[in-house]
Order: sequence, then structure tokens, then C-alpha cells
Amino acid sequence: MNIQLLDLLAQYETIKDEIKEAVISTIESGHYILGSQVKKLEEDIAKYCGVKHGIGVANGTDALLLTLKAFGIGEGDEVITSPFTFFASAETISQAGAKPVFVDIDPDTYCIDVDRIEEKITERTKAIIPVHIFGQMVDMDRIMEIAKKHNLIVIEDACQAIGAEYKGKKAGSIGHAACFSFFPTKNLGGYGDGGMVVTNDDAVAERIRMLRFHGSKVKYYHEILGYNSRLDELQAAILNVKFKYLDEWNRKRAEKAEIYNELLKDTSCKLPVARDYNKHIYHLYIIQHEKRDELIKYLKDNGVATGIYYPVPLHLQNVYKDLGYKEGDLPNAEYASKRTFAIPLYPELTLEQQKYVAEKIKEFENLK
Ligand SMILES: *Cc1c(COP(=O)(O)O)cnc(C)c1O
Repeated sequence: MNIQLLDLLAQYETIKDEIKEAVISTIESGHYILGSQVKKLEEDIAKYCGVKHGIGVANGTDALLLTLKAFGIGEGDEVITSPFTFFASAETISQAGAKPVFVDIDPDTYCIDVDRIEEKITERTKAIIPVHIFGQMVDMDRIMEIAKKHNLIVIEDACQAIGAEYKGKKAGSIGHAACFSFFPTKNLGGYGDGGMVVTNDDAVAERIRMLRFHGSKVKYYHEILGYNSRLDELQAAILNVKFKYLDEWNRKRAEKAEIYNELLKDTSCKLPVARDYNKHIYHLYIIQHEKRDELIKYLKDNGVATGIYYPVPLHLQNVYKDLGYKEGDLPNAEYASKRTFAIPLYPELTLEQQKYVAEKIKEFENLK
């Protein structure tokens, strides 16, 4: 048995003909930058999220950076986010010139602990970036309540959560803006990089459209300093094919997560906790184990791939030494970084494969 963490080729097999057709017809259209494919994806995703604007950009990182810039966040500002996420959530705050302020996580959902946000708010705080980590949304009612009280911008980092819901509302529909990534391994992934911002704010949408295109509205007339950060037309063509299957793929992930929950319930693993008001899309199926590193090795020796998300919480990264955090400051994030890992989960994973993974975990526990 050899089970990958994610099998992108197994997915490709199911949509091969449509992908080939989309790629070839885009090449033959002769239009490669901001053409009809990008426009279609922008409209479809905005509609899917129930917001007015979708703006395709080069990747999820740029989606965050351009959004921060569009809201005028920069030098002297503080932005609150989670320490337990992919680096880009904080990197972009720093790249915009602002300072990331980390708030510890809820030990069950791994999302930012909303009860601890207010104690970190200062006069300099301008925004909150809630990260819907692993495919489950943050408690957004609380986030919006805090934001309203303190007059803060909310930018959802929904890079791992396209299609997830909170109290019936889609990820991306609640904050002032939200960012998606189409990195190949995301639930909606291209065959290369891609990203999108969604927002109801007309002015912000217009500014992001300018920022992604060298700060211009009309070619060769530059209003502001911008970037070259457009969603590629070929990637958009691929994503337009894949987008049709997103709900089905997310549903299959959730079904398989339920199967794991059942198969692993008698082990000593801590299993994912999904809040009852959330529709979790299981970007990753994360479990915790006391002997994580030994278990990972045992699984690897038995042909089961795993992944550690994330081995070092952001407040303890070398690059952020100057922020002055030390070990013990954000204990839940630190604890999670030492014990959590992902086991294989993707829509094409078979029941037989899942049983094998569970059996190997049980075998490991019996040996100990
Ligand atoms: C993937 C990811 C990003 C960055 O997206 P890219 O497309 O890789 O630039 C940002 N935040 C989170 C939480 C992510 O998972």
C-alpha cells in the first residue's frame, strides 16, 4: 500500500477530457491575460459567495497583500491574526508595512480564540485577519461584533476554506473582503498559482483591480504604484472546469472525514472538532497524537504519507524575532505545532485506503 496525502493525478483522471479541451481552446483563443476565462471565474465565484465583486490575482498571498493595500493598511498599523496558519497570513501584513499581532488559538478548532482578541487591540489596530484554518470557519459573528465595536476592517483568509459555511453563510461573504488561493493543493486548485479577492466594497474592488495591473485603470496611464499580479487566463480556464465539481468534492471530503472519525474513535488520537454551526470542508484532516513523530515515522514505513501543518507557530519564526515573542506566550498554538499532523484525505480516497490508515494507527498504538 502506498497512500499519498493528496492525489492530484487521481482527480485529473476524472476530468481529463474537459481540462484538455479548456486548455487547448484557451491557447487557440489567442487571449492570455485577463480574458473571458478570468472574467467568468470572477463572476461565478462572486455569485457563489453571494458578494458583488471577484478580482482574480496571481496567488492567495497577493490576494491578501493587495487587499491590505486597498484598505490603506501600512506603516504604523497593527493587524491581528492567528499564529497557527501558513506564513502568508502574517507575511503580507509585514509586506504591507504593518505589524502582525498574534492571538492564541482555540485548542479544538485551531482557529483564532475570539475571546482573546480584545485584549490585544490598541489605538494602532486597524484590521483583523481571521484564518479559516483547515477548512473550518472562525466564529464570524464574534469577529464582526469586535470589529464593529473597535472600527476595524475584517479580511477573511479563506485560502483553505472555499465553500465552507458559518451559520449558512459562505466563507468570503461576511468580512469586508476575503481572499482565496488556487494553489494546486487547495480544495479548488489550478495547475499552477492563482488567487482571488471577493468583496462587496466597490471602491476596494476598483483599487484591487488597479493594484493587480500596475496601478492603472487604462493601460499605460498609472494612478498609483501597483503590481503585476493577475490571475492567469490558462489557470482560470482550468479552474472554471474544476469549479463545477467543488461542492461535490467538498462533500466527499466531509463524508470521508466522518468515516475517519468513526474508524479512529477508539484510538488515543484527538480528532477534528467541527462546531455545529459550521460546514467544515476538510481542506486537511488534522489529528493530534502524544507520540506524533514516532507515529508519523511508523505510517511512513508502512506507505502512508502525512504532513505537519505547522511545525513552528508564526510568533516563534526566526523572521519575527524582533516582534519579541517567546516560547510560552501562545501555548495553544505551540502545543498544536508539536502534536498535530494531517493524514491522507481527498475526494478520490477509497474506503479500503482509509481502513488501512486507521489500522496502521491502531497497530502503532498496540505496539506501544
Ligand atoms: C495557501 C494559503 C495562503 C497563500 O496562498 P498562495 O496561493 O499559496 O499564495 C494564505 N493563507 C493560507 C491560510 C493558506 O493556506
